[in-house]
Order: sequence, then structure tokens, then C-alpha cells
Amino acid sequence: MKIALVGNPNSGKTTLFNALTGKMEHVGNWAGVTVEKKISPLSEQLADFLRKHLSVDNPGDPIVVIDLPGAYSIDPYSGEEAIARDFILEEKPDVIINIIDANSLERSLFFTTQLLELNIPTVIALNKMDLLRHNGGKIDTAGLSASLKSQVGEIVANKGEGLKDLLLKAVQTAELKAQPAPIATGESSQAGTDARHAFTKKLATDYLVKNRASHEITFSDRVDRVVANSYLGLPIFALVMWAIYAFSINGLGGMLSGYINDTLFGKIVPDAVNGFLTGIGVHPLLTGLIVDGAIGGVGAVVGFLPLIMILFFCLSLLEDSGYMARVAIIMDRYFKKIGLSGKAIIPMIVGTGCSIPGIMATKTIEDDNERMLATILTPFVPCGAKLPIIALLAAVFFPHSTWVFPSIYLIAGALIIIVGLIIKKIYRLESSSAFIVEIPEYKLPSIKLASRQMLKQAKSFLVRAATIILVMNTVIWFMQTYGWRLQEVENQSSSILASVGGILAPLLIPLGFIGWQTTAATLSGFIAKENVVATFAIILASSEEAMHLAGGPLTDFFTPVTAFSFLLFNLFIPPCFAAIGAMNAELGSKRLLRKAILIQFIAGYTVAMLTTQIGTLLLYNRLSGGFIPAVFLTISLVGWLYYLMVRKAGNTKNGFA
Ligand code: GDP
Repeated sequence: MKIALVGNPNSGKTTLFNALTGKMEHVGNWAGVTVEKKISPLSEQLADFLRKHLSVDNPGDPIVVIDLPGAYSIDPYSGEEAIARDFILEEKPDVIINIIDANSLERSLFFTTQLLELNIPTVIALNKMDLLRHNGGKIDTAGLSASLKSQVGEIVANKGEGLKDLLLKAVQTAELKAQPAPIATGESSQAGTDARHAFTKKLATDYLVKNRASHEITFSDRVDRVVANSYLGLPIFALVMWAIYAFSINGLGGMLSGYINDTLFGKIVPDAVNGFLTGIGVHPLLTGLIVDGAIGGVGAVVGFLPLIMILFFCLSLLEDSGYMARVAIIMDRYFKKIGLSGKAIIPMIVGTGCSIPGIMATKTIEDDNERMLATILTPFVPCGAKLPIIALLAAVFFPHSTWVFPSIYLIAGALIIIVGLIIKKIYRLESSSAFIVEIPEYKLPSIKLASRQMLKQAKSFLVRAATIILVMNTVIWFMQTYGWRLQEVENQSSSILASVGGILAPLLIPLGFIGWQTTAATLSGFIAKENVVATFAIILASSEEAMHLAGGPLTDFFTPVTAFSFLLFNLFIPPCFAAIGAMNAELGSKRLLRKAILIQFIAGYTVAMLTTQIGTLLLYNRLSGGFIPAVFLTISLVGWLYYLMVRKAGNTKNGFA
């Protein structure tokens, strides 16, 4: 038997899904997080309960629960809703649990009336009853049930209240096979929509008892007057981010990471393994592979684990408190200007963890051009794998400063807006549609939820380190130890890695980067961005400790200005191959994918070039290497963009297609 969970975004579907199945899916406190359906069997405990209660000897088919993307209506004309509708019709569930936030009964019931016309057995779950009761509200469930001709259960999904009762209702309803609709309007015409609105309004008036007058100002409203204010909103957001990063990177997380990097993977582990391997007479080359390649490279990445765990813990608390939904509102004002709705901020916030789910979250954007634009811009947001690169270069070149991380996010934001504006101009994109986001009440964030989120992130980080990064490190170590004739090289500069990096190195001259090493590190980043750090660790074959100290070997390659520029380059050029794959899936055509990658490459390249050249000139009063080609490139780029904008302006065709 298939039970599908359907409801508005933020109604608590994922929370209910987790409660029913015992899973730990991401519970997001904003709209549009669940774009993929999830499917899982009912938890053992609840399955047992059903078996006993229905006293069937043969339990029959196992029960599975499906979590579908949130939707406000089933209108086939908007992307997100179409997803929900297609899912429902495709999945052919035996019964739908329509989950409703009891605190916004009237609006939620609109969707319910549409669902009830699909002729699929449906029960209604009134969720977040705790909040409603807390505010002194009540719902006449029996009356509502009679009017809707459906069973209605009250639940508190996050405390597991009312689940058994709801399940029994669902199983009973499933046996009906079909269910009459309380109001059949047929078409989704305007008249039908109006009739539905009148019906839901009546239901809410008849069955909902509110204690608090709806115009009363709540605590959340008062906080929002300051936090979501048009002038204060952005500075407050910047301050909040700065505080979180200062704590995670410079504070506790940085201290723990420093210990792991310098002491654990810098001395204790390599010394012990080195001693052990030499002691049992292992060939020095194999010892080198294990100690410098595997431990050195993977250690360089794993060292940043505490920093990342603490960061994601804080971000998760922030999200659960309800603040992130406000951020979406604040950003909407700016995003509108570049032809993106605030909806695009959600993929970007998700993208701070990993670009792949971020890119997938663009599915919820209805307008094709807007969605493609969001897909191209989302990878500019630094993902978790890029954090070690930032942390490494910040520690070496800007020790004790707290501005590096926040400035990266500000630059990313500016880049998103500038590139967005240019693309909008070139392709003549229309301005965007309205943005509706569910604004949850502020609440005390759950430590348990944040811990789970943190452990999940840590697990995926470690799994990556132990698989893809480890394999790549072994390959990189070989490439820098051997030459093309598979002879061991005396000097790294005759290694395979040096020649591969060397071919492409001239491309980076206008950026002021010297040597094959920087190119090799950048290239390895396409497999996974953490590799940039690991590759440096292997090439420099120095202990972790040396790499982190200011004045370590990295300073041979970079000045502080070019180090910052190298950082920006690696963050803003196209993402890793896996994320490019996700872009391919969302963009849907190879031609668009090539364009997207080109745009990202030009953006990253230009930012780095300007940073190096202007920064060197202003801060050191001299010209950086590659100045002349950089000037030449800048002029050509400006000319080319100008040509594109003018040429397209005479064109009547709008949009990417
Ligand atoms: P979805 O978007 O429908 O999947 O909603 P989520 O499951 O992600 O939940 C949205 C928010 O509502 C989260 O912050 C949950 O912790 C919260 N939530 C879910 N169920 C309840 C409930 O019964 N009571 C309260 N107070 N909060 C809930």
C-alpha cells in the first residue's frame, strides 16, 4: 500500500515523513526544499501497531510512505504545482494524506478541495496543532470532516502525536477506493477558483475558533519589523553571517581544525606511520605514497572537518529558527532587479552546503528563463567543499583576520548580481514573477535537528575524503613522483603532473599565477574542490604544519593579493564535474550547458584577473606579471559584451531559447 504525503510547503510533510518512517530527511524551514520525492517503508513500530490493531494475520503488502514536493495548488500551469500533480498521478497512491498547517487553515484547504477532485482516497491531517492550541485556537474536526466528506485527524508531527489515529484513518480510507468530492468545480477556470475560495472561507468561518484576533501583532511581527526591514535587513544579515563565520572559522571550529591539521595530521599520525612502515622495512616509495599521498592529502582535507561541522550546526539553527525564510524575502528585493525572483535564493542557500541539491532546487522556479539563470548562478555560492580552500589560504596569508569569509560571500553576492544583470541584458530576459514564501513563526531552534544535520554533513564529508579524494590523491602523488617514461623523477618539474599543469599554465599568466603547481591544483579541483587543498599538500610534500604557518612554502607561489585572487578563481570558475552533471540535467541541453560553463569560466577568470592586477597595483605600487595580456583581455571582453548586448538588442527574440 502506498501512502503519499501531499501539502503546502512548510506544512510539515518531511517532519511527518520522518515520524512515520523513522528516517532523518532534511527538514527545511522554508518553501521549496523538497523537490525530490522520497520513499520509505513505514517504521517497524507503526507497522506492528497496524498489524495488531487491524488484527490481520497476513499483513499483506508492506506500507510505504512517499513524501512529495510541496505545492499550493494543482494548477497545471505553474512548474512547481505541475511537479506535485504529476507525482500524484504517476505514483497512483492508494491513499493521500493531505497535510495541512492548522494555523493557516483557510489557505491550505484550497489545495485540499482540488486534491479531493482527483478521485483518490484522501485523509486530512491537521498539523501543528500545538501552535494552534498555544495561541488559543480550536478546530471542530468532526464538522470539518463532515463538510469535506473525508476523515480528518489532528496531529503534532514533530512530537509524534496523533500519528496512530491518522494511520488508521488512512488505512480505512484506502479501502474506499474512491471518494466523493465535497465541491466539484471541474475545470480550473476562474469561476471554479472563486467557488473554491468561497467554500474554503466558509469552512474556516464555520469550524475554526480563533482566540486571538488575527490583526493582533505577534512576537514574530515585532521582530520582523527590524529584521526584515528594507534598510536594516541586509546589514543585519551580513552581521549575522559574520558572527557565525567568526565563531565557526576563527573561533571554536578553527581552533579544533588547527589542532587536527598541525598536531594530529601534521606530526602524530605521519610520524607514527612513517616509523612503523620504515620499521617493518617497507619500500620508501610506498611509504611516500602512504604518508605523503594518502595521509598528507586526505589529512589536509579532513583537518577542516570540525570547522565545517560547527558551521553547519550554526546554519541549521539559524534555518530552523525561521530566520532564513526572512532572508529570502530580503533578497527578493535585490533579485527582482536582475530578473530573478526570491525563489532563486532558496537554491542558493541550499547551495552553501553543496551545489548539487542547490541546482536541483531550481526546479521549483516556474519561469524557464528564470530557472536557467538560477542554475547558472547558483554554483557561484561557495559550497562546503570550497570551504577548505578558503580556510587554508586565509590561514596562510591572512592569519587572525575575520573578514576573509564574509568578504567571499559578499563578492559571491555581487558576482551573482553583476553576471545576472549582464545575462539579462544580453538575452533580454523579462522581469520576474511574484514570489510567495511561507513565513513561519520564529521559534527556538532544535538542537537535536541541528546535530543530526551536522552529523549528516560530516558523514558525507568523510565519505568523500575516504573515496574520491583518497583516490585522486593517490593519482596526484603518482603523477608528481613519476615522469612520462614511468621513471621516478629527481625533480618534480619533470614529472607528469608538471607537464600537464605546464601546458595550461600560460593561460593563468594574466591572473598572476606562476608555475604548473597552481594549474595542477585548479584542475584537480574539478574532480572535487577539496582537491585543491590536497594537491597543494602533496606537491609541497611538506608537513601540514609548514603549510599552515604564515611564511610556509605556499608563499613562494603567491603574494597575499594573488592568493586571494587564486581563491576567487577556484570558487567562481565552473563547479566540480558532479555539479556540472546536475546543471546538465536542469538545463536540459548540451548547448545551454556549454554556454553556462563558458559564462562561469569567464566570470571566475575575470574576477581573479582584476583582483590580481588592480590589487597589485594599488597595494604594492607595481605591475603584476601578466599585466599587458590582462589589459588586452579586459578590453576585448568589454568590447565583446558590448557587441553582444547591442546586437541582441536589435533582435526580437527574448530568452535563452
Ligand atoms: P515541509 O516543507 O512540508 O516538508 O515541512 P517540514 O517538515 O520541513 O517542516 C517545516 C517546519 O515546521 C519545521 O521547522 C518543523 O520543525 C516544523 N514543524 C513540523 N511539524 C510541526 C508541528 O507539529 N508543530 C510545530 N510546532 N512545528 C512543526
